[in-house]
Amino acid sequence: MTERIPLHPDEALSIVHSLSVAAPREETVPLPDAAGRALPRAVPAPMDSPPFDKAAMDGFAVRADDASERFRIVETIAAGDVPGAAAPGPTGATGELQPGECARIMTGARVPVGTGKVVRVEFTEVNEGWMRLTEPEPLGNVIRRGENARAGSDLLTPRVLGPADLAVLAAMGIGSVSVAVRPMVGIIATGSELRLPGEPLSDGQIYNSNSFSLSAQARRAGALTTDYGIVRDDRAVMTQTIARALAESDVLLLSGGVSMGDYDYVPEVLAECGVTVRFHKLRIKPGKPTLFGTTDRGFVFGLPGNPASTYVLFELFVAPLIHRLMGLTHQPIVHRGELATQLSRRSADRVEYLPARIADGVVEPCAYRGSNHINGVADANCLIRMELDQTHIAQGSVVHVRQI
Ligand code: AMP
Ligand code: MG
Repeated sequence: MTERIPLHPDEALSIVHSLSVAAPREETVPLPDAAGRALPRAVPAPMDSPPFDKAAMDGFAVRADDASERFRIVETIAAGDVPGAAAPGPTGATGELQPGECARIMTGARVPVGTGKVVRVEFTEVNEGWMRLTEPEPLGNVIRRGENARAGSDLLTPRVLGPADLAVLAAMGIGSVSVAVRPMVGIIATGSELRLPGEPLSDGQIYNSNSFSLSAQARRAGALTTDYGIVRDDRAVMTQTIARALAESDVLLLSGGVSMGDYDYVPEVLAECGVTVRFHKLRIKPGKPTLFGTTDRGFVFGLPGNPASTYVLFELFVAPLIHRLMGLTHQPIVHRGELATQLSRRSADRVEYLPARIADGVVEPCAYRGSNHINGVADANCLIRMELDQTHIAQGSVVHVRQI
């Protein structure tokens, strides 16, 4: 399907989502390397966690039904010990508690058979091998076998693995995990005016900044990146680099050269390279000229050159696609807060995203002078969205903002 009338960004996003993607290739990585990687399939628990009933407190294990005044201490069980495993001595510990008996036990240790609760040590008094309660213990203080996870149940569902997930896997004895291979994102900055930081600038030239934000955003989203550098506005040169990058990338990101200028060759070069255009031009601000297309092997975005557009469009469209390629559903983080100052605009024929800062439930729009002003985006931690036909949002209104 080729879509050439400006699309609502929500429709555009459903087009991106509607295209089928293959199940991700996977690779097995050791646990320390798994943080930040995408887990595309649920991991079943290989065993019960904890694998035995264990004490949650330092104290004394007693039977549930035992109303004794005092309890004979039959053994001391440290974390790692097996109850009753010590040679039967004068105390005669068997690993199973009888009425009137208790076992001194440490946090994390396996409780003896028959344990109903662990009385915390603070609620007891010990005298010559006997324990007496000084206060009733209201809690059980036993973590039962399988309480955290049952063998065979879903231990982790698909997600980007975080530090706690690594602990969950390690707690199951899992030392390596199969994660999605990182998609390869190619980046090309188009524009004859562009120079690299470090190079001298001549009159009329500017530095390429988009390649740096795009590459950091792509990596943050979980991808690997290849930077194809700057390509000047020359059809032949552009065709060559774009063809090579398309062949090597899962997602190719171009910035610049996609709108109505005389030297905006990107749409024709992409057509020449066999790209099927899925949409070109959105009812969005910033980012109206955005183009999205596909090849047999991957996806390509022609993002506008203005740095704020490039940044915002990546967050809205590219990050979700990268997540899909890794077998995940992208969930933008949305906060709600009260708008600190009113927002007004004359023309409301586009959905508009504005950089803002949210803190303590208050949303403060950033000083922002439009799509060329990446500085305003750098100061932001979220985006406010103004809907089609919405010209005004009153001060104090509750707005939903998207974290960036
Ligand atoms: P274009 O989309 O090519 O018409 O570019 C729109 C604006 O963005 C122009 O002011 C360009 O100079 C600027 N621009 C284009 N590419 C980049 C880039 N890679 N880094 C910073 N600014 C850029
Ligand atoms: Mg240009």
